[in-house]
Amino acid sequence: MKIIAVGWNYAEHNKELNRINIPEHPVIFMKPETALVRDNKPFYLPNFSNRIEYETEIILRISKMGKNISAKFADRYYDAIGLGIDFTARDLQNEFKAKGAPWEICKGFDNSAPISNFLPKEEVDINNLNFSLNINGEEVQRGNTKDMIFKVNDIIAYISQFFTLKTGDIIFTGTPVGVGPVKIGDHLEGYIEHNKMIDFSVC
Ligand code: MG
Repeated sequence: MKIIAVGWNYAEHNKELNRINIPEHPVIFMKPETALVRDNKPFYLPNFSNRIEYETEIILRISKMGKNISAKFADRYYDAIGLGIDFTARDLQNEFKAKGAPWEICKGFDNSAPISNFLPKEEVDINNLNFSLNINGEEVQRGNTKDMIFKVNDIIAYISQFFTLKTGDIIFTGTPVGVGPVKIGDHLEGYIEHNKMIDFSVC
């Protein structure tokens, strides 16, 4: 399986990272399968970065193989949604961006993608879905999918021009405003509406 992620998909988050241009197309990157963490296992801070930041994101589970999917039919290609953390080594990312170099390492390192269990998509309104993250009991990030620059169906259509989507692939759909660093001992709890989806600690 593969993990495909969208960057820069919420305008208020783009402002906090000083990106002023609205992207013409979704910004896409990938994480390898070795990035996945499930079952609320702890996240071990890697030693190669001094600033690992959380990005809380709605994720989609692909349920059918597809290539060149049209946006109109894209909702036939995923069956469930969940919550994921797109952990990012922000210090390394800033170095790579300054050099114009690819940023895979800062996004795709081992365990950089903790994910929740999934909810059937029929149980939610994917285009108006609140999600949030608490750290140590305080809310640090809150978003609603209605604020996505590129909506879920457009993301699937765009990605599938380049990458054949296969059953079990996961798409991270971008993070809202409020990203920040984690430290050892932090306790992360993530919600979709009032459902607690993730609950793990940083070690
Ligand atoms: Mg992200």
